[in-house]
Amino acid sequence: MEFYQKMDKLRIAQTNKYNVFRCLIRNGPINRAAIARMTNLSIPTVMTITAELLDKGVIRSIGKGESSGGKPPEMLELDPRCFYCVGVDVGRTTIRLIATDAASGQVAELQELTGNPLPARDFISRIGDLVLNLMEKGRIAPEKIVGIGVAMPGLIEKESGRVIFSPDFEWTEIPLKHWLKEKLPFTILVENANRALALNESYFAGDGEPTHTAFTVNLGHGIGAGLVLGEELYMGAGGTSGEIGHIIVEQGGPLCMCGNRGCLEAVASGDAIAKKGRAAMEKGEAEGIYALCGGRGEEIEAKTVFMASERGDQAAMKIIDDAAEYIGIGLSMAINVLDPDRLVLCGGLMRNDVSFFEKIKASIEKHKMKQTGRQLVITRGIKGENSTAAGVCRLLLNTLWRERSLPI
Ligand SMILES: [Zn+2]
Repeated sequence: MEFYQKMDKLRIAQTNKYNVFRCLIRNGPINRAAIARMTNLSIPTVMTITAELLDKGVIRSIGKGESSGGKPPEMLELDPRCFYCVGVDVGRTTIRLIATDAASGQVAELQELTGNPLPARDFISRIGDLVLNLMEKGRIAPEKIVGIGVAMPGLIEKESGRVIFSPDFEWTEIPLKHWLKEKLPFTILVENANRALALNESYFAGDGEPTHTAFTVNLGHGIGAGLVLGEELYMGAGGTSGEIGHIIVEQGGPLCMCGNRGCLEAVASGDAIAKKGRAAMEKGEAEGIYALCGGRGEEIEAKTVFMASERGDQAAMKIIDDAAEYIGIGLSMAINVLDPDRLVLCGGLMRNDVSFFEKIKASIEKHKMKQTGRQLVITRGIKGENSTAAGVCRLLLNTLWRERSLPI
C-alpha cells in the first residue's frame, strides 16, 4: 500500500511541475502568486517547484515586477535555451531542417535538395549528417537536444518509426528510426509529413483561439491531409488517417500510384496537373504551354500549366478548373463527414494565383451538403516552407510532454 501511495505522490508532484512549467511558457513573465492562482496550487508548492526549475536553469528571474500594494514580486520566465528540438522535413524535392527552442521559436535552419533517395540506408545516413550540420550551425550542444522529429511522405508505423510504404521515395519497409538512431543517439520520432504540417498549421488557424476540429490539406505533388482535434493529431486505428488523396472521384479514371484508379491525387494533384498539361501539348491543344516549355514535355510542371492558364491558354484553363472542381468534391466529402470548424489549404498548388483557392471554395460550396459546415472557416496555410518541420518539432514536444520526459 505504501508503495502505491508513494507512486501517487510522485505522479502528482510531476503533474504539478509540468503545470507550472506550462503556465510559465504561456504566461511568462509572471510572478509566483499569479502562477499559484492560475494553476490552483498553493504558494508554498509553487515556491518549491520554481526553486527547482530555477536551479535547473529551465526558468530565470528577470527582476521585480509592478507592486500591487506590498513588496514588488519577482518576475519569472522560461529560458527558451533550456532545450531544443530538431525537425526534419524530408520532401521529394527538398530536405528542410530546423531547430526550435523550448518556446517553439526557430533558432536555426538548413535546406538541401533531396536528390536520389536510394539506396535508403545511405540517404538516411545523409539525413544524420544534415542534423549534425544544423546543430553546428545553430551552435546547439548535443546534451540540449531533447529529440529529433522526422516528417516524410508515405505510410509510417508510428511505434517502430518504420516507413511502411513511400511511393515518392520508392521505399517499402524501411526502418528509418532504427537506422537514424545508429547515427544519432537521441529520441527519434517519425511521422507522416501531412500530419506534421496539419499540427503546425492548426495551431495558428484559430487566430489565437483554440480550434475544435481542424482539417489541413496539403495540395502539392500529391494530396494528403491531417486532422487535429483540439491540440491533438487524430491518428486512426492503424495510423493511416488523412489519406484524402486516395478517395475515388472519377470512376475508372487515371491510374494512381496507390494502384487504384481515379483517386483525387491522380486527377488533381500537382503531378496530375503537369501530366495533363503534357498530354494537352502533345495533342497540339495547348500553345501557351508549348511556348513556356519550348515543346520540351519533360519540363512541364504544375506551375507551367498555371502560368499558361493565367495567360489565357484554353486547354490549361480547363485543366486548372477541373483540378479545383475535383479538389472541391473531395473536400466537400470531408466536410460532410467531419464537420470541421477550420479547413486549411496548404502546399505548392496554393502558391499559385489566388483564383485557384477561390475556385476550390466555390466547388466546395456547390458539392457539400447545404446544411453542413455551418461553423466552417476556410483559410490558406500561413506558416510557409518550414511549417512541416515545425510541426514535427511540435509533435515531438507534445509526445515528451505526455510521457513526462522533458528535462525539467
Ligand atoms: Zn490513390
